[in-house]
Amino acid sequence: MTPRAWAAGTLVVLLVLLAVYAAVSIPWHRPPAPRADQLAALGRLPGEQVARAREFHSALRPGSYGAMGIGLIVALVLGLTPAGAWLVELAGRPFGGNWVARAVLGGLFVTLAGEVVTLPFAAWRHTVVVRYGISTQGWGAWSVDLLKSWAVGAVIGAVALLGFYTITHFAPRWWWAFGAVGAAGLVVLLSFVLPVLVEPVFNKFTPMADGPLRSSLIELADRDGVPVRDVLVADASRRTKAVNAYVSGLGPTRRIVVYDTMITEATPDEVVSVVAHELGHAKDGDVLVGTVLGALGTAVAVIALYLLGSWAGLLRLAGVDSIGEPRAIGLMLAIVSVAGLLAGPAQAFLSRRIEARADEHALVLTGDPATFEAMQRRLGTVNLSDPDPPTWEYLISASHPSTVERMAAARAYARGER
Ligand SMILES: [Zn+2]
Repeated sequence: MTPRAWAAGTLVVLLVLLAVYAAVSIPWHRPPAPRADQLAALGRLPGEQVARAREFHSALRPGSYGAMGIGLIVALVLGLTPAGAWLVELAGRPFGGNWVARAVLGGLFVTLAGEVVTLPFAAWRHTVVVRYGISTQGWGAWSVDLLKSWAVGAVIGAVALLGFYTITHFAPRWWWAFGAVGAAGLVVLLSFVLPVLVEPVFNKFTPMADGPLRSSLIELADRDGVPVRDVLVADASRRTKAVNAYVSGLGPTRRIVVYDTMITEATPDEVVSVVAHELGHAKDGDVLVGTVLGALGTAVAVIALYLLGSWAGLLRLAGVDSIGEPRAIGLMLAIVSVAGLLAGPAQAFLSRRIEARADEHALVLTGDPATFEAMQRRLGTVNLSDPDPPTWEYLISASHPSTVERMAAARAYARGER
């Protein structure tokens, strides 16, 4: 059997594994959130606030979709013309065209090109979130954050590029196998490492101060049977007025993080309700599910890339001999960008199902749908989210059920509907 046939066979096996794992780990049943309740909830929100949230999102759209469109065009130009290969050669030239220099610097160069052309759109978005009072950052702090995220991306990217092209260099026929294992391993590693090493680059985390709130959160976690070592507070207020909480990390790195804005903006009962949602993620192992799906999906992507890379027409367009050479980085990024756009709605769909289950967990754990609904109203108000976004936008990008869906789920739960 040829390496190509093995790759095709492995791809099929991984796709079956992915489908089976998704089938058993994703909560396909969605707790009821009747449309009638959604409309009733929407009707009770102050009209002025709903209008302002919608205005805010229309103001953001040109920046968001502009960046998406231009980013895609640049990726396609760099990938489907010899421009990407030329950029990689340019980056490697001071080093005599050495393959390591081409791989790492060329890769960062091509990625940076995409970042730079979308920068004006990011700046535009920043002016909008400042104008609507969501962001509290001036241009200085905004630029520092941007540079930090580029630096983090460059470090992770350099490791990934060096690893990937070392494999393609030394195993030109079988790199897909080692690459799939390596890329999946990197996803798992990042899942452990990001919360510990990367999140502190952007925020300071301090254990929540002793007091009635902390006690009730620890008591809640105990009652839920979820081992939580600590509840941390992030100093999000130095960047945003938005409120949020999340759970990240696996095993020993798992932590529940509450924004400091949440503690000042919401009532203690509402904070309990949000943390109950986060405990749902911990209890159902949602971070693990996301990591496994991410690792399998990444392995599938590497092998699909290898198989697509034997398509002579694509290679000719990019002016390269093989998808495994550093000069083909542009082509690879173009394929990844298109695949990412196509996979986005599916990822959002899975995420919404998982989020709806965590909401249900919060309702069961606290037994307090009224506070849950109040908390959703608060989240929507403070974060200026569109409580009932347009269907097309919801389908392509919403990672959570909408505010009115979440309020309706609380109402249905209160009536005993499951
Ligand atoms: Zn959640």
